[in-house]
Amino acid sequence: MKISCVQFSLAAVVALVTVLSPSHVAALPTSTLAASPRVPKAYNHHRVVRIQIENEGQLQTLTDNEAALQLDYFTHNKNVGGHLDVRIPPESFAKFEALDVPYTVLIEDLQQVLDEEKKELQQNEAQFQALQNSVGLQNTKDSNAFAGSAWFQSYHSYADHTRWLQSQISRNSKKASSFSFGNSYEGRRQAGIKIGRGPNNIVLHGTLHSREWISTMVVEYIIDQLLTGSDRRVAGYLRKYTFHIVPIANPDGFVVTQTSDRMHRKNTQVTRGCLGTDPNRNWGYKWGTAGASTNPCADDYMGPSAFSTPEASNIARYLKSLRNVAVYIDFHSYSQLWMVPYGFTSQRPATYNYMAGLAQTAAQALRAVHGTSFRTGDIYHTIYPASGSSVDYAYSIGVKAPFAVELRDTGRYGFSLPANQIIPSGQETWAAFSAILDKAQV
Ligand SMILES: [Zn+2]
Repeated sequence: MKISCVQFSLAAVVALVTVLSPSHVAALPTSTLAASPRVPKAYNHHRVVRIQIENEGQLQTLTDNEAALQLDYFTHNKNVGGHLDVRIPPESFAKFEALDVPYTVLIEDLQQVLDEEKKELQQNEAQFQALQNSVGLQNTKDSNAFAGSAWFQSYHSYADHTRWLQSQISRNSKKASSFSFGNSYEGRRQAGIKIGRGPNNIVLHGTLHSREWISTMVVEYIIDQLLTGSDRRVAGYLRKYTFHIVPIANPDGFVVTQTSDRMHRKNTQVTRGCLGTDPNRNWGYKWGTAGASTNPCADDYMGPSAFSTPEASNIARYLKSLRNVAVYIDFHSYSQLWMVPYGFTSQRPATYNYMAGLAQTAAQALRAVHGTSFRTGDIYHTIYPASGSSVDYAYSIGVKAPFAVELRDTGRYGFSLPANQIIPSGQETWAAFSAILDKAQV
């Protein structure tokens, strides 16, 4: 009886919030909204389909209908001859089929995939908690549970990611220290670790798009390799370079993906009732010139002005404060691509051959580990025109080799990459990254 009462009152609250939301949202200042609880979102019977774009007409039909059909683009390759992965709500599916564009179904029921993922995460969390209890160091920064490869066998909560990072810093205080890009919109630290003492800087971050969880884990894998890995080249890297690494560049969005909406990609600034600006369409170089949306509800909403998101502007400020940035990598998922500027134009930058050469070196080294194939090239031609992105900005301020990397896979699991692929992804990405470190001009 007691349980059903609780369920009833929760349901009532959810219903009330749902009913009140639209008008309520418009009347409230954004800061109040950001702190308010969010209604959990479910994706029962949402399909993810792959659409083959055969001609301009099909592309136009899709674009004309994307708002009405509530299409959520998982990939953004809007080119004839390419393919687009799109999430479609069940109520839109008949209308989508009537558009008569060729498609195949990648995921029949997205919620089932997310439920599986959640179950696995909860089981791993419980195991991880037990491990911490067994070593008797729960809640201390030096918990042994945060050392070694056990960490990379599962995804983790935001709180555990924070503790993991602190643990790496305190265990390796001779070669590592704490830093942050700044604070997110809701005041969370974009927390990072600085490793090495070299004169040349390397800046890496993951999870600027919050649903791309594998990027967090792979960036942490790179941290682990630099601190405790067996690669003999590391000592030389730490003399030559200083690494500035942030696993979760969009912490507010990441928390949303773990509490209310697993498919959330943006930050949490609210515009006209829609949650979030895309922090990778908001950078202040050629902002809003191509491949970014002015619709606040779209997943690639560019924001009301360049650098309106603290997440992007903090990283930009930090990058600008460093001299000699040899390599900058913004890790994303999915699609298996190692890309260089530009995104905003089809023209190639002056040092394109140098950057694309490094990307090819990376892809070769990556493939040698597990046979995984990555495509390389500039963003504009490799996937789609996109303006206001991190790498275009980084290149504009003199970073020698900025890369946008899309990690595993190519759509089989999409953003819910199984946890048993974390270590293989980390291994192959380390091979790619270290190949770049070996060849980068400083
Ligand atoms: Zn992304």
